[in-house]
Amino acid sequence: MSLKSRNAVVTGSTSGIGLSYARALAAEGANVMINGFGDAAAIEKERAAIESEFGVTGIYSAADMTKPDQIAAMIAQAHTTLGSVDILINNAGIQYVSAIEDFPVEKWDQIIAINLSSAFHAMKAAIPLMKAQGWGRIISTASAHSKAASPFKSAYVTAKHGLAGLTKTAALEVATHKITVNCISPGYVWTPLVESQIPDTMKARGLTRDQVINDVLLDAQPTKEFVKPEEVAALAVFLCSDAAAQITGANLSIDGGWTAE
Ligand code: NAD
Repeated sequence: MSLKSRNAVVTGSTSGIGLSYARALAAEGANVMINGFGDAAAIEKERAAIESEFGVTGIYSAADMTKPDQIAAMIAQAHTTLGSVDILINNAGIQYVSAIEDFPVEKWDQIIAINLSSAFHAMKAAIPLMKAQGWGRIISTASAHSKAASPFKSAYVTAKHGLAGLTKTAALEVATHKITVNCISPGYVWTPLVESQIPDTMKARGLTRDQVINDVLLDAQPTKEFVKPEEVAALAVFLCSDAAAQITGANLSIDGGWTAE
């Protein structure tokens, strides 16, 4: 499979799953725009590594996924600099763990903006470009939490259920334009996002670190193993292939059996 000459934008790709998507697409020959926050030198190192390891063009956008104008500008910049936007992966996401009655309103607004509304804004900017060229792939990282709930994650579960609905709606709207729209729903993937929620979960549930890992996180996953970021990225690469042309509007689980229960 080759994605040579395809141009991809991956939001939230300075670490974790997003960085794995960017590297996996580049490994197949796609040029990529990475996006996200973090240490400038570390981001530049990742961008340069994508170019040197895979012989593709790698560019970076610092667009803030809570800002609709910056999201539109990011898609326009990718189109101008790379020549097209063929693949859009909506991946930026954050988590906050708290009971609803204590949940800070600004955290609710931020999670809905980053985990859900940013995908709408990016699609709004990218779909006209994809329609004009007659080809496109849109993938969003939803979550097992787009299918099942957990207590203390109200904003996240709400945003991810919404993302699954947005995916189905967009897929129907562009179905005759050779554009597919899908979401990938991982279970627990060992990334900074999961690691950083352990202290809050310890507090919210009154548990030790080991209890959170084994009795809360891996308890949900029948395989008793974390999903690897590279496994999620491999599924995205497949969705970008011609073989996946008829997969659209799907919410694909990669969760060690979590949502089978
Ligand atoms: P991560 O914390 O490693 O990566 C999140 C990325 O989003 C980073 O690049 C960060 O800089 C970026 N980001 C955060 N706020 C942003 C903003 N306002 N604007 C632009 N970028 C922003 O986390 P991850 O685990 O790799 O998560 C990636 C996606 O996968 C998220 O949507 C998350 O909900 C989803 N997901 C993760 C898991 C898991 O277990 N790790 C499971 C299911 C779904």
